[in-house]
Amino acid sequence: MSATLLCFDRDLRLSDRGIFAALEPGSALVPLLILDRRRSERIARNPRRAAYFCAAVAALDAELRLRGSQLLVRRGALDVTIRSVARATGARCVAWSKRYDPAGVREDLRLQAIVEELGLRALGIHEAVALDPERLELDTDEGGFRSFNAFFRLWRAPEVLRSPIDLGARFSPSVLPSEPLPRPEEFGASAWRDPVGERVARAALDRFVNERLVEYSRAIRTPAIATSGLGLPLSYGLLSGREVAWSVCRRLEDPFLLAEERTGIERFLRAMARRDFLLLAGTESAPQPEERLFARTSAELPALMEARTGFPLVDAGMRELAATGSMHSAVRAVVASFCCFDLGLDWRTGMESWEGLLVEDEPALAIGNWRWSAGLRIDMHFPRIIDPERQFLRGDPHGRYVRRWIPELALLSDARQIHAWHDRQLALDLFEIDRYPRPMLDHRERASAFLARYAEWRLATPPVGAPRSSR
Ligand SMILES: Cc1cc2nc3c(=O)[nH]c(=O)nc-3n(C[C@H](O)[C@H](O)[C@H](O)COP(=O)(O)OP(=O)(O)OC[C@H]3O[C@@H](n4cnc5c(N)ncnc54)[C@H](O)[C@@H]3O)c2cc1C
Repeated sequence: MSATLLCFDRDLRLSDRGIFAALEPGSALVPLLILDRRRSERIARNPRRAAYFCAAVAALDAELRLRGSQLLVRRGALDVTIRSVARATGARCVAWSKRYDPAGVREDLRLQAIVEELGLRALGIHEAVALDPERLELDTDEGGFRSFNAFFRLWRAPEVLRSPIDLGARFSPSVLPSEPLPRPEEFGASAWRDPVGERVARAALDRFVNERLVEYSRAIRTPAIATSGLGLPLSYGLLSGREVAWSVCRRLEDPFLLAEERTGIERFLRAMARRDFLLLAGTESAPQPEERLFARTSAELPALMEARTGFPLVDAGMRELAATGSMHSAVRAVVASFCCFDLGLDWRTGMESWEGLLVEDEPALAIGNWRWSAGLRIDMHFPRIIDPERQFLRGDPHGRYVRRWIPELALLSDARQIHAWHDRQLALDLFEIDRYPRPMLDHRERASAFLARYAEWRLATPPVGAPRSSR
């Protein structure tokens, strides 16, 4: 019987694994986690991610033990470890789940080269996306990922979406002694406080589908209403994109579906398609920011990081991120626009400023979304400048979200009042509001200045798209 090393990195689950369908009959899997220097350094950069990762790995090990196996953990160089474990187990194949960000893609190529040099079969599989790109029949001559709408039309075709793979696989009983599982302390972190693992994630998916899909279309526009929260388990691969999309799609079979829920389902599937689009397109070349348009640093960045810009929605988002490790997606877009266009910062600076705080660990989505927010979309240049005050009035009219995260503003009754406090000269000394700063800049001025720079740059460079401002 042949053995296959299954390297766990980004997909820390056993269910819905494409790899099981790709194995030679009779092959047994040796579950392997390699913590090489690069991986360990990356984990240690963000204590929250380290804590979540360790909890997810412990849950994976527990699942494997239920199947009579256990995770084989090795700390050491990738090439040396693969060679020694393959030799000791007689493995003829090494399999892994593909990564999508540029650094992950480079790591995958390195792994492939190591495996092939050893004369073993290298098997990198798309495990994270809802649709295998091969089923999408993208017209790669046309660029494949030139337009999200075209991608979505293919993605949403009824015959394309598949049910999760319901196949088991044989895992080898542990023959080699494992090093201890990774612990949060090893990375300077404390233990994750809530239960984590694929069972917990599936229960969250079921709750969302049965109870909260109905309000999803409102939730994505309303920061006070939570969205699914599935981005976190998806980013560690505790759930597959396919299972999430399939579970949501199946709700459409209910003849008593409310119109609002149907809208919610379509919106949600669009979000999942966007995830696939950005993951798969991440490896394609994308335009880089222009130095003339964006700066790498700014003396104003600390005000954003300390959530003291004086723009309530922006500050509330940053405080939510600091307190919970996440931020409502509607607010992410506002903060990112503020960062790129009001502060004039390069998207990479914005993305890096969230890196130490965000628990989701999906670099390809971070890159894709930050580029998108900066107007450097894969399909076109399109700077869409969001007015943070207008967006606040529109998305959080009762100020529920802002008052939750900015206690200084808790006594004001709604967004309009919060928005206007500095113009109307309220009796400031009576309120905690006194401690909350006034807007640090004039949004209209900054937006106009950016668009003027942009127009100049366009004159010198052939355009890919047209600018638009929501001012
Ligand atoms: C500036 C910016 C930075 C972001 N950085 C990250 C990041 O680092 N890691 C990350 O996983 N997501 C990132 N996102 C995407 C999105 O905000 C999160 O995936 C989402 O907020 C997760 O919460 P949720 O699961 O409740 O989302 P829901 O609204 O419930 O969405 C369901 C799922 O659809 C997918 N999805 C939703 N919106 C997007 C989107 N804009 N792009 C791609 N997929 C999407 C996610 O997998 C999400 O879990 C970023 C978005 C912006 C605007």
